[in-house]
Amino acid sequence: RPYAEIRFLLSVPQPHQAPADSGFEVAFAGRSNAGKSSALNTLTGRKALARTSKTPGRTQHLVFFALDDQRRLVDLPGYGFARVPEAVQRQWGETMATYLQQRQSLAGLILLMDIRHPLTDYDWQMLEFSRYADLPVHILLTKADKLKRGPAQNTLLAVRKQLADYPQVSLQLFSATKKQGLEEALHVIGRWLDL
Ligand code: GDP
Repeated sequence: RPYAEIRFLLSVPQPHQAPADSGFEVAFAGRSNAGKSSALNTLTGRKALARTSKTPGRTQHLVFFALDDQRRLVDLPGYGFARVPEAVQRQWGETMATYLQQRQSLAGLILLMDIRHPLTDYDWQMLEFSRYADLPVHILLTKADKLKRGPAQNTLLAVRKQLADYPQVSLQLFSATKKQGLEEALHVIGRWLDL
C-alpha cells in the first residue's frame, strides 16, 4: 500500500516555491472538471485527498502530496475555465512551461481528459510543453463509464491515432466511479515513482 501514508505537503502558486527537487514526482493535469480530483482520490484510496486543490484561492496552485521523503504526487492547476482573463491564461502557460521544463524530479505527467471532450487546445499545449521537456505523458480518458464499451474503445483508438507524432505519450480508459483502469494507471505511476 504505497499510498497509505500519503499526506498534504505544500500548496504554492509558483514553481520556484516547490519543495526540494529531489527523488521522484508525478504530476496530474487537466481541464477543470475533467475528473482530476476524483482520479487522485481513487488512485490513492483517499476520499478527500484532492480537496485542498479546490479551496477558493488555491485553484491556481501547485499542490504537493508526499508518499515518503523521496516521492510526491502533484496536483497542477486546472485549466480551460470559461471567461478567465487573458493575463491569467498567459500566467498559467508560463507556470506550466516552467514547472514541466525545470523540475528535475518530475518523472512523468498524468494528463486527464473527459472522454467526451478529448484534446482541447490546452491539452495540446500541455502535450507540446511535455514533448519539449522530453517528459513521458500518460493520458487518462476519464468518465469512461459515460460511454458504452464500443464508443469508448473507438475514442481511445481515435485519440491514439491523433497522437501518432507523440511517441512519449500513452493512454487508457479510466473511470473513478467504476474504478475502471485503476491497476493500469497505478502501474504507470508506480514505474515513474520507482516503487
Ligand atoms: P476536476 O475539476 O478535474 O478535479 O474534476 P472532479 O474530480 O471534481 O470531477 C468533476 C465532475 O465529474 C464531478 O461532478 C464528478 O463527480 C464527475 N466525475 C469525476 N470522475 C467521474 C467518473 O469516473 N465517472 C463519472 N460518471 N463522473 C465522474
